[in-house]
Amino acid sequence: MSWKTNIQVRDLDPDQKLELTCTQCGHVHYLTPEIILRAPERGFLYLDEIERESICRARGCRGAVRLALVRNKDTSAFVGGLA
Ligand SMILES: [Zn+2]
Repeated sequence: MSWKTNIQVRDLDPDQKLELTCTQCGHVHYLTPEIILRAPERGFLYLDEIERESICRARGCRGAVRLALVRNKDTSAFVGGLA
């Protein structure tokens, strides 16, 4: 178990975003709750599920990604849990 299995997309604050780092090539892309919730049923996905179904967006890579939570308003990593 980790914090990723306890947090659903709908629990996120609008100013949080998900940082997805490729475990193969290190490419980083971001998802925001707003983007994910364009498909409302996806709000019930846990973050570990988002991590599992996401792949690297670098051309030709398609590697697995590691998910982290960050805040939009500053660039410092937000380490687990919710306030
Ligand atoms: Zn990659």
